[in-house]
Amino acid sequence: MSSELWRMIPQVDEVLRRSEFVALGLSHGRVSVTLAVRQAIDELRNTILAQNEPVPPPEGVHAALLSRVTAILGARLQASLRRVINCTGIPLHTNLGRAPLAASAIEAVVQAATGYSTLEYDVDTGERGSRQSHVRALLVELTKAESALVVNNNAGAVLLALSALANQREVVVSRGELVEVGGNFRIPEVMEQGGAELREVGTTNKTYAADYERAITARTAALLKVHTSNYQVVGFAAAASREQVVEVAHRHGILAIEDLGSGALVPLHGEPTVAEAVAAGMDIVTFSGDKLLGGPQAGIIVGKKECIARLEKHPLARALRIDKLTLAALLATLRLYRQGEQDEQVPLLAMLTKDPAHYQSEAEQLAAAINALPAWRAEVKPAHAQVGGGSLPGKEFAGFVVAIESPIGCVALEQRLRRRALPIVARIEKGRVLVDPRCLLAGDREEVIAALEAIAAEAAL
Ligand SMILES: *Cc1c(COP(=O)(O)O)cnc(C)c1O
Repeated sequence: MSSELWRMIPQVDEVLRRSEFVALGLSHGRVSVTLAVRQAIDELRNTILAQNEPVPPPEGVHAALLSRVTAILGARLQASLRRVINCTGIPLHTNLGRAPLAASAIEAVVQAATGYSTLEYDVDTGERGSRQSHVRALLVELTKAESALVVNNNAGAVLLALSALANQREVVVSRGELVEVGGNFRIPEVMEQGGAELREVGTTNKTYAADYERAITARTAALLKVHTSNYQVVGFAAAASREQVVEVAHRHGILAIEDLGSGALVPLHGEPTVAEAVAAGMDIVTFSGDKLLGGPQAGIIVGKKECIARLEKHPLARALRIDKLTLAALLATLRLYRQGEQDEQVPLLAMLTKDPAHYQSEAEQLAAAINALPAWRAEVKPAHAQVGGGSLPGKEFAGFVVAIESPIGCVALEQRLRRRALPIVARIEKGRVLVDPRCLLAGDREEVIAALEAIAAEAAL
C-alpha cells in the first residue's frame, strides 16, 4: 500500500479529538474509548490490507470508526450480569443480589476457585473427608446446636427437612405463619413438595399452644414454626412462643421445627437469633446465609444430631449440595463472627450498625459535588431505609439521602444513571432523584459523582 494510503487512515489522537468521541469518553471513560479506537483503527487497516480495498473518503472512515467503537464499547460493557452501584439504601435488595460479601469471604472464594482444596480431603489421614465438616464445628460453636448441615439455600433447607422428617405425615402450622417469601416460595407449597400434609391451626391473627396440641394425631410428624420475616401482624395478635411449641411437641413425642428465614447470628433489632431458637429446644432450625447473616446464598440447618443425620442421608441432600465457592465464602464469613469482627467486616452489618452521622457526612460530600454543577441542586435530608430481602419488616433504619434536581428532569436522570456501563440504581421521590449513601461500597461515591458530572456535561453539549 502506498504511503499516501497509509496517511488516509486516521491517527488515534486525531479521532479522539472529534466531538462524537469526546462524548463517548464522558459516558464510557476516556481509557476505554482510547483502547476501542485503537482496536477499530487496527481492524480497519487490516481489512484494507487484506482485501486490498481502497480507503474510503474521510467522512466514511470516521463514520465507520464511530460505529465500530460504539459496538466494541457496548460489547465490552454489556455482560448482562454485572456490578451495579446500589443507591437505594436497601442493603438486602433481592433484585440486586442481597448481601455483598466481606473481603475475607471474597478472598476465600478466589482461593477455592483458583486451585484445588481440601474440600473433601482429610490431610491428616489422606482419606476422603466431608465438605460439611468445614462449617459444622463453627456453626455448632456459634449457635450451641448439636450439629449442622448447609445446603444451597433456605428454601432447599426447609424442603429437605420436611422431606426427611415428615414425608407422608402431617405437619402442624399456624395460619398466621403460612408465609409467601418472594420468588414463589410458599410454605404450604413447599410442604406439599416435601410430601408432608399441612394441618393449619389457629387464625391469621391468633394462634395458641392449645391450637397446636388439638391438631396432633398419630400421623403428626412435627410442629412447624415459621418466622414471619417479611411481614408483621400488628394489633390484636398473638402467637404461641417457640418454647410453648417445643413443649407441646416434645410432650407428644414429635419434632419441633423452625424456619427462621433471616437468620440473625447476633442480636439485631429484636430479631430472634439462631441461638435463641436452639436454646428454646427446637429440633431443627433453618435459615438463609445471605440475609441478616451477610454471607453467600446458602441454606443453613442446625439442630439435634439425630435429626441432622437423617437429613444428611436423604437423597435430596445431594441434589441441594452446597458448592465449594459458596462453602468457602460461608466459612470465611462465619469465622468473622467467631472473632467478633462481624460489625466491622461483614458489609451488611456495617451498613446496619454505623452511626447515622456517618451517612450524613457521606451525603453532604455527595451534595457538595452536585451543587457545584451549573443549574443542579442537591439537598441532604433525613430518611429511613428498610433492610430489604424480606427481613426485619417494618424496621426503619435512620439515615440520610441526597435529593437531586437537575436540568434534565428526574425521569431522564434516573434512567441515564441506570443505563450507564456501570449502572447506578437510584429512585425517584416527589420529582427528585434520591441517592442514599448507606449501601455505597469503597469507591462508589467517586463513581456516582463522576457519573453525575458526565451526565451534566452531556446535557450541556
Ligand atoms: C427468605 C426466606 C426463605 C427462603 O430463603 P432463601 O435462602 O431465599 O431460599 C424461607 N423462609 C423464610 C421464612 C424466609 O424469610
